[in-house]
Amino acid sequence: MSNIVAIVGRPNVGKSTLFNRIIEQKKAIMDNVSGVTRDRHYGYGDWTGKYFTVIDTGGYVVGSEDIFEEAIREQVQIAMDEATVVVFVVDCITGLTGLDEDFANVLRRSKKPVVLVANKADTTDKMHAAAEFYALGLGDPYPISAENGNNTGDLMDAIVSHF
Ligand code: GDP
Ligand code: MG
Repeated sequence: MSNIVAIVGRPNVGKSTLFNRIIEQKKAIMDNVSGVTRDRHYGYGDWTGKYFTVIDTGGYVVGSEDIFEEAIREQVQIAMDEATVVVFVVDCITGLTGLDEDFANVLRRSKKPVVLVANKADTTDKMHAAAEFYALGLGDPYPISAENGNNTGDLMDAIVSHF
């Protein structure tokens, strides 16, 4: 069985940025071959010799992301059906929102392992802001910056530990 990592979270937390960072190398290779760059919902990654498929679930519900309940339902459904590990992304700059809590309520009831990612922790100061996400009841938040790569190695270690 192949390992599948599903990225979920409300709009604008950085799901696609994280997705692109995880598949960086493979995407560059594929873009060279095809000669086109386009939005992808599935990609392939590897970390310390462990290979996996990653799904940007937000990419599937672009048309309905302003309908929050629908977005949650669809993303979580994809994750629950397909994922080995669910990566739940929240945003250190905006802080905890009601929609984050809605996602967390559904994810806590699932049997899938959830890795909580506090994104946009671009600096050490912002890394401290990740602490408030303990309140979601999904364990230790991993403060990272999908944009600059801060701490993403530790996150990858945590993700592949579930394979
Ligand atoms: P999505 O809607 O969850 O897929 O979010 P996107 O990946 O499209 O990112 C939404 C916005 O957040 C964009 O303007 C990104 O450049 C920005 N962003 C994503 N990751 C980071 C990060 O680590 N730090 C900061 N400061 N901004 C980020
Ligand atoms: Mg996106």
